[in-house]
Amino acid sequence: MQQPCSYSAVLMGSPILLKLAQHDERLAHDVFRLIRQQENLFTVNRAGSQLMAINAAAGKHPVAVSASVFALIERAREVSLLPGCCFNFAIGPLVKRWKIGFKGDSVPPAHELKALLALTRPELVQLDKQQHTVFLPEAGMEIDLGAIAKGYIADRVRDFLHQQGCYCGLINLGGNLQTLDAPEGETSWAIGLQKPFGEPGALIATVAVSNKSVVTSGIYERYFELDGRCYHHILDPQTGYPLDNELLSVTVISDSSLDGDIFTTLLYGLGVEKGLALLADYPQIEAVFVTRKQQVVLATQQPFRLLDESYQVIDSTA
Ligand code: AMP
Ligand code: MG
Repeated sequence: MQQPCSYSAVLMGSPILLKLAQHDERLAHDVFRLIRQQENLFTVNRAGSQLMAINAAAGKHPVAVSASVFALIERAREVSLLPGCCFNFAIGPLVKRWKIGFKGDSVPPAHELKALLALTRPELVQLDKQQHTVFLPEAGMEIDLGAIAKGYIADRVRDFLHQQGCYCGLINLGGNLQTLDAPEGETSWAIGLQKPFGEPGALIATVAVSNKSVVTSGIYERYFELDGRCYHHILDPQTGYPLDNELLSVTVISDSSLDGDIFTTLLYGLGVEKGLALLADYPQIEAVFVTRKQQVVLATQQPFRLLDESYQVIDSTA
């Protein structure tokens, strides 16, 4: 069997890994360029992106965006309005204030959070389908697509590779994985599930997939500690504080990485029990929950291999 060729870069503040069946420097270069172009549309950390233009015009005027950015915002708004959904694409003011995982992160006073919560209302965001414009009617409102941009971009990379006639490979956008066919002679890619708060590279398990996305959201990815408490980067749009439940991470296995990215946040907010109930309505979405009690709750049909015996597997599909 021929070993896949690996190419790496640091983009979107994350290590990016591309695996191709054959050595193809040119294709790898084009993939990294595509990722950079996409990042430039969605970043909220650098001036010049379409998203920054929308945010800068909050309370002033609508901003016209490209069809693809409009479509992603439209989807994000739709999901944010689902009843009981903790995914909220208007979460920007809270994310900016907490700065979790960045220099200057701190616990905001309750009165500040209350004021910012009033600005995180997805239903206020106005979209014009004809003009492809987006309008944030209150000054201080901000769209943040940090929870889903990588998933969207991973799907674009998959589509691009297919267009180029490349059907075997894998793209890992800092934990957002999209797989193509497995390497020759193999039936799947073994994707590692990271051990929450473990050493870099420490794995709980592997899940075997091909032509599927594997996306993980975990509270260990970005957080800070203060007075014995852990403040992580997935915020509860109801309270303004980091979500507080039994979960350490949620991994979603799906065809589309955008769906995976949406569902990780959504399932995070629901917790195991309600999350499993929701998954019953979405057979194309599979998940693995890791809890604070060292349990790994499986809601997937993909071959799963436990590597760390200190975790207990509970198979919800059994
Ligand atoms: P992920 O790494 O995909 O779990 O996304 C985490 C990022 O999503 C955070 O760094 C924020 O930018 C953003 N975010 C945090 N809380 C929420 C939320 N409740 N809804 C939507 N996006 C969020
Ligand atoms: Mg996500």
